[in-house]
Amino acid sequence: MAAHDPVEQKYVYDFAEGNKDLKDLLGGKGANLAEMTNLGLPVPPGFTITTEACKAYLTTGRKPDGLAAQIEAHLESLEREMGRRLGDPDDPLLVSVRSGAKFSMPGMMETVLNVGLNDRSVVGLSNQAGGNDRFAWDSYRRLIQMFGKTVCEVPGEEFEHALDEIKRAKGTHNDLDLDADDLRGLVDVYKQIFAKHTGREFPQEPREQLDLAIRAVFDSWNAERAVLYRRQERIPADLGTAVNVVTMVFGNLGPDSGTGVAFTRDPGSGAQGIYGDYLANAQGEDVVAGIRNTVPLQELEQLDKTSYDQLLGIMARLEEHYKDLCDIEFTIERGKLWMLQTRVGKRTAAAAFVIAGQLVDEGLIDLDEALHRVNGAQLAQLMFPRFQLDHEFEPVAKGIGASPGAASGKVVFTSARAVELAAEGESVILVRRETNPDDLNGMIAAKGILTSRGGKTSHAAVVARGMGKTCVSGADELDVNVPAKKFTVGDHVVSEGDVVSIDGTTGKVYLGEVPVMPSEVVQYFEGELDPENIDDALVRAVHRIMTHADGARRLRVRTNADTGADAARARRFGAEGIGLCRTEHMFLGDRRELVERLILASGEREREDALAALLPLQRADFIEIFREMDGLPVTVRLIDPPLHEFLPPLEQLAVNVAVAQERGEDVAKEEALLAAVRRMHEENPMLGLRGVRLGLVIPGLFAMQVRAIAEAAVAVVRDGGTACPEIMVPLVGAVQELETVRAEAERIIAEVVGDSGVEVLIGTMIEVPRAALTAGQIAEAAEFFSFGTNDLTQMGWGFSRDDVEGAFFWRYLELGIFGISPFESIDTDGVGRLVRIAAEEGRAARPGLKLGVCGEHGGDPDSVHFFHEVGLDYVSCSPFRVPVARLEAGRAAITTTGSDSR
Ligand code: PEP
Ligand code: MG
Repeated sequence: MAAHDPVEQKYVYDFAEGNKDLKDLLGGKGANLAEMTNLGLPVPPGFTITTEACKAYLTTGRKPDGLAAQIEAHLESLEREMGRRLGDPDDPLLVSVRSGAKFSMPGMMETVLNVGLNDRSVVGLSNQAGGNDRFAWDSYRRLIQMFGKTVCEVPGEEFEHALDEIKRAKGTHNDLDLDADDLRGLVDVYKQIFAKHTGREFPQEPREQLDLAIRAVFDSWNAERAVLYRRQERIPADLGTAVNVVTMVFGNLGPDSGTGVAFTRDPGSGAQGIYGDYLANAQGEDVVAGIRNTVPLQELEQLDKTSYDQLLGIMARLEEHYKDLCDIEFTIERGKLWMLQTRVGKRTAAAAFVIAGQLVDEGLIDLDEALHRVNGAQLAQLMFPRFQLDHEFEPVAKGIGASPGAASGKVVFTSARAVELAAEGESVILVRRETNPDDLNGMIAAKGILTSRGGKTSHAAVVARGMGKTCVSGADELDVNVPAKKFTVGDHVVSEGDVVSIDGTTGKVYLGEVPVMPSEVVQYFEGELDPENIDDALVRAVHRIMTHADGARRLRVRTNADTGADAARARRFGAEGIGLCRTEHMFLGDRRELVERLILASGEREREDALAALLPLQRADFIEIFREMDGLPVTVRLIDPPLHEFLPPLEQLAVNVAVAQERGEDVAKEEALLAAVRRMHEENPMLGLRGVRLGLVIPGLFAMQVRAIAEAAVAVVRDGGTACPEIMVPLVGAVQELETVRAEAERIIAEVVGDSGVEVLIGTMIEVPRAALTAGQIAEAAEFFSFGTNDLTQMGWGFSRDDVEGAFFWRYLELGIFGISPFESIDTDGVGRLVRIAAEEGRAARPGLKLGVCGEHGGDPDSVHFFHEVGLDYVSCSPFRVPVARLEAGRAAITTTGSDSR
């Protein structure tokens, strides 16, 4: 390589100069080509232009100083090594110009092959190929086609069309039937197409071809599809792509040539073996285009045993070297094998676990590394039933994948009908515009929930996730008409009893039944499969990695559960207590009438009666939960939502009263209710009379709940159990609020627990920004904090959690204001900062203050890492997320030098 000014930035690396750890600089393809070169594997010589060069080019619109000279120097050195010059008329060197970013973006950016061919070197290429004119002209027409399309934006269909025309004239469908003359003619046609669209002749100067191709690859970083792909895959927009300039090798030089792709293990299941496809007498692009059918890689053994054996040897070597599944692309040119690419291969969630387990068995990696190589998103995927989408099913609508899984069933529009049909053994899908707490029974009975409104934190979404039930929310193409018992979508009308299928992962809605398979990973967590005695590589691998995560993690994992059944399931899934038991669900159903009595009470006596009637019901609820969580902490949150949520909606009540009055019926009670609803109406209920404010305004309400909790704990302890209640006050913004509630609660607890040995902690949610900012004061009155990151996000951003995701988040995502909804993954800069401040100031005021999180973020993989880093004691999440949180808490706790798991 020619020397250059030592202070000048190095923009070009010979393959021999790089290695696999330089992905940031050389991109994945370049770094791995360098690695293979240095392993002594047969890689066609070449060099890589760095992502830094690309970034400089994209910022300024021109190549950075020094780049041209460095390219020149590396090209010269490549020419020397190959003994050929780029585009030489007699014996040309040809190169490919290939994109390659840090993260694989398959097919998103550009590649140009055969750079260096022109009207003269095409003859030289024919000579090199033993007088194979057909091959030379075919290569030339491919260059014009690729160059025209990718470098000069000539519409690709025009070239396709010209090729089809010539085949039609020849009466064939097969490219291979075209001879040298046909292809020479095609080159002329292609040149005309090129000139028509670009206003210039196809460039004959090889260096110009190379420069333009490099620029085109740089530019393709910002092509629309690449931008979209990055956004979807959450790949940062500022990485840039490297450009690889690689000596051309040809798989289309006859039957002793060919091209293929292979995996060192099955990327679908993780099974060991030889997986790949081979296409004789072809170039890589033919495989992608699917023009001819490939054969299984094993057949190469018959065609070319030497190359086949060599390839298998290289694959084994690569696996051992990368200590992971690799995928490769190779070409055989007249019996000589060339490696064109390798990388740690993408795999399914199941394969990720299985392969990690196998590699531990093979002694290639340790368990920390195995844990690093899988993630919670993969585990979550494995925990849901899946559709068997063998043949094409066309979705009729797409909403938000609010709670993953797959469900098929008969459409129902009311909770009552869902319960009825489910009792008859039918699978049902509950379809609503949006759900409310009254739909709970129907949601429990249904296989899945489909709503036309609401986002990922809407009622339907939160409750469904809590139950591990499939839910698609916000499918706004659906026009749901509950009274008419039907919905319309496009031209379809779907009535009660018709079957639909919903995919809670993709948000897709299908008409008719799509077959569903259960998850064996859930069967394992449920204790139905014994991981030590089962011939299921996936279950064994999950068991092993989960056990390791549990041993490694510092965060404890609790669950959000309001019923004994949920608590029991969460415990089977590994929950170490309840971090949030929402008590509002205990005021629904037939207890609603008691809430109405409480609200309508005209005096102290009536109110006390209503509360006295609620007390034993609440106590029974808590006893059930404490029993299921025997020995583990249970955080019970005092009632949080505005009380009018328990009353019928204003419009419905007004209509009922009017109709009843018309009929001359006695409507005194309804009128009182209507008056109460009118009185209690709030413009912004989320910021209104809720949480601790209720406790301060409605005498006896919190007291009743505190008494029920304490009595339940005493009852459990008297029965020989261990209850560890923690009473949590919601929506506190000022320490005075908490102090007031605390004083009363302490008095009641002391009175109830007596000498039973029951200990009750009192703490608060931190979900109002002011609470986070005054955490030092609040900690004086709290034994624990639990971060309510749903409300903290709502109030921190000023985003109504029920409305905004469907309303405008798409635009925010498009603009990159955030990469993911802050309701899904904690906004570490803003809301996360509030968490950090509160944790630090809370602990400073009260060392040993217990800290947890119970918002939806407690089960989000990235957020779990953040909470680990902030030093919380536990995260709490819905039962189905418990294994995910365990895994991620383990991953957060280990430090590895392993590769990026993306
Ligand atoms: C929260 O706000 O994060 C929380 C857990 O409470 P809820 O979702 O019930 O408002
Ligand atoms: Mg809240």
